[in-house]
Amino acid sequence: MSFRADVITLFPDLFPGPLGASVLGRGLSEGLWSLNATQLRDFAQDRHRSVDDTPAGGGAGMVLRADILAAAIDATSPEGDPRPRLLMSPRGTPLTQKMAHDLAEGPGTVIVCGRFEGVDQRVIDSRTLTEVSIGDYVLAGGEAAAMVLLEAVVRLIPGVLGSAESHADESFENGLLEYPHYTRPQSFEGVDIPEVLTSGDHARVEKWRRAESEKLTRRRRPDLLKP
Ligand code: SAH
Repeated sequence: MSFRADVITLFPDLFPGPLGASVLGRGLSEGLWSLNATQLRDFAQDRHRSVDDTPAGGGAGMVLRADILAAAIDATSPEGDPRPRLLMSPRGTPLTQKMAHDLAEGPGTVIVCGRFEGVDQRVIDSRTLTEVSIGDYVLAGGEAAAMVLLEAVVRLIPGVLGSAESHADESFENGLLEYPHYTRPQSFEGVDIPEVLTSGDHARVEKWRRAESEKLTRRRRPDLLKP
């Protein structure tokens, strides 16, 4: 079985969006993974098809109703579905490359995209939604965040990006940021490609790249070096 992604959203037309481009899009059409966007509004009960209401206790904005969201989740991911259910949320566990690998190795995921002020806490609890954040800033909705998460995950699915080696050196894979890249022309605005990279000495190249990775990480992300 290939990786199955379900997204519950008020804006299903936004999908696949960037997930349909390039190698991810090819993987999608080749069936290496699948994506289904469910319109939350289809589960509304009244003739206005409303999905949200004012927050209990007062305050600004609107909250997605627990009953309607629960019905959408149950229809998309019936009991026994082994896929983790996620809620995109600025309060969530920060998305990491490790999390992306763990998800890519699994059967897929069901992602709820919040809107307005967020969702009723009772549906988070009763449907065991794991809250995941893509960073310490607030978006207008979970759709772009879900795309970020899926893009990070899907490119790790075997066959989507080509050879497995292409991941090994990347930023975060070995706890370091990636070294700088160069390609032709040999001289650009008077700046040459570092000599070692054109030396043909594979061991020297490896050593240089490792040193550059460490230097860059120490300077930009010392937090990654902490044990
Ligand atoms: N009132 C909420 C923010 C709501 S933003 C709070 O203060 O925590 C509306 C929706 O956008 C959220 O329900 C969530 O699904 C999505 N969202 C916003 N920022 C996000 C982030 N950093 N990571 C993941 N999802 C985010």
